[in-house]
Amino acid sequence: MAVTRTFSIIKPDATRRNLTGGVTKMLEEAGLRVVASKRIQMTKEQAEGFYAVHKERPFFNDLVSFMISGPVVVQALEGEDAVKRNRDVMGATNPADAAEGTIRKTYAESIEANSVHGSDSDENAAIEIAYFFKPEEIVG
Ligand code: UDP
Repeated sequence: MAVTRTFSIIKPDATRRNLTGGVTKMLEEAGLRVVASKRIQMTKEQAEGFYAVHKERPFFNDLVSFMISGPVVVQALEGEDAVKRNRDVMGATNPADAAEGTIRKTYAESIEANSVHGSDSDENAAIEIAYFFKPEEIVG
């Protein structure tokens, strides 16, 4: 299996509850390595751009408001089959549907405040990493 990269966000519900370490530990235990990380306050424009694919969805405005409601930690992660590995440890979007042992089952508050974002394809991972990191900020 090839070593690839994915993009993760530790969302405001998790940073608010001081769960940056807890979430990161679960990512690391799942075989992912943090190769870039920074804590930022996203602007409205940044959040709208990041979630542009969802702009026609009914939850878009609430999602943008939530994502700028506090700091987030953006991360590039590396590992074997990183996108799937991360999606597996994240769990289902709605924590009510997430499997035991996943980040969202363990930590998420709701379908919106669900603690983590993770890229859904290698193509989107590359786009999302480049949205937040310069190449020299990633140290593999
Ligand atoms: N979301 C929401 N309501 C919904 C579906 C999604 O607030 O009914 C939010 C939630 O924070 C989710 C994000 O929008 O993580 C992106 O949705 P997506 O379907 O891409 O889920 P994900 O890939 O994050 O599991």
